[in-house]
Amino acid sequence: MDYSSLAKLLQEKIKNLTVHLDHPLALYTTLKIGGPADLLIESKNPEQFISIIKLLHQQKQPQPTILGHGSNVLISDTGIRGLVIQNSGDDIGINNSKVTLSSGTSLPHAIDFTLNKNLVGLEVFAYIPATIGGAVHSNIHGFDKSNFSQFIDSIEVFNYHTGKTETLKSSDFNWSYDLSPFQDNFKNPATAGPHLIITSVTLSLKKGDGQLAKTKAEEIKAIKKQTQPFLSAGCTFKNLPAEAGPNQSAGLLIDQLGLKGHRQGNLQISPLHANFIVNTRPATAGAATASDYIKLTEFIRQKVKDKYNINLEFEIKLLGKF
Ligand SMILES: Cc1cc2nc3c(=O)[nH]c(=O)nc-3n(C[C@H](O)[C@H](O)[C@H](O)COP(=O)(O)OP(=O)(O)OC[C@H]3O[C@@H](n4cnc5c(N)ncnc54)[C@H](O)[C@@H]3O)c2cc1C
Repeated sequence: MDYSSLAKLLQEKIKNLTVHLDHPLALYTTLKIGGPADLLIESKNPEQFISIIKLLHQQKQPQPTILGHGSNVLISDTGIRGLVIQNSGDDIGINNSKVTLSSGTSLPHAIDFTLNKNLVGLEVFAYIPATIGGAVHSNIHGFDKSNFSQFIDSIEVFNYHTGKTETLKSSDFNWSYDLSPFQDNFKNPATAGPHLIITSVTLSLKKGDGQLAKTKAEEIKAIKKQTQPFLSAGCTFKNLPAEAGPNQSAGLLIDQLGLKGHRQGNLQISPLHANFIVNTRPATAGAATASDYIKLTEFIRQKVKDKYNINLEFEIKLLGKF
């Protein structure tokens, strides 16, 4: 089936669905870089999200790429072939201290919502512009170095290999810093992998003083605002493991080389934070390119390798062909 017929079918079967053929993805990312998707589907709520995935699976379509808030991705200048679903829509249910959230729920909204109910814990993730699905996929780290996985009880996924919905216990997996069972480099167990699309997540939070936690969240936001620019994909490189000793921060290594402010085309190593690469011309479509981003990261990697003999690993996820 061609993309135009598929778009028609999706709109016939699923109410109020917005779809775009051959559509640029730059505006769906915080970095504002990315070529077109063959077919972009905007999912506005969890019901639409499940219906879209099920229908695509029934139609024997290749697995779609899922975009949350696009805050940790570098999309290729040639875009993404096939189908992309942009997943949004807040849906939160509470049962004592267990909170179930749709994967399209915005993390900042989830933080406000839970703190208003005096359920604490998520405040350490204040300022991170994620969806819940993206937060789980990236196993984000918070201000105090805690990982999102510490709060996860279970995850509901659509298994694109089998076409079935499954509930996974978080404790069955060996999560680690910035690594989740949904990434393709997760080794163990074999049942995990990128064929699992996250549809909802149940978190286990603690009852506590929501007001106090809100104050902490505001303090974190004020600190991060000074150094973490939004026109970026967040930290480009992962920090080093604890065994690396005092030089664990990728940002610090890059900073010590005096690279802050270094430019490649319309991209720049942020003068505020050496592990953030910023788009200096977001309003002009195509002015900053993924290929310049990659050139800049190659330059940084080489400098760090030459000086410290360390191979920096990407924290960002590359989508499309590079
Ligand atoms: C200003 C700024 C500050 C940041 N601060 C931090 C920080 O403190 N700590 C930190 O860890 N990160 C941070 N980040 C990075 C980023 O916000 C997180 O990694 C976030 O979790 C990405 O979520 P997203 O919804 O934007 O996902 P996207 O960037 O849209 O996607 C990320 C990956 O997840 C996959 N994915 C998304 N949703 C699903 C789903 N439902 N099912 C399966 N796969 C899915 C995508 O395919 C992609 O591979 C920051 C980014 C910015 C711009």
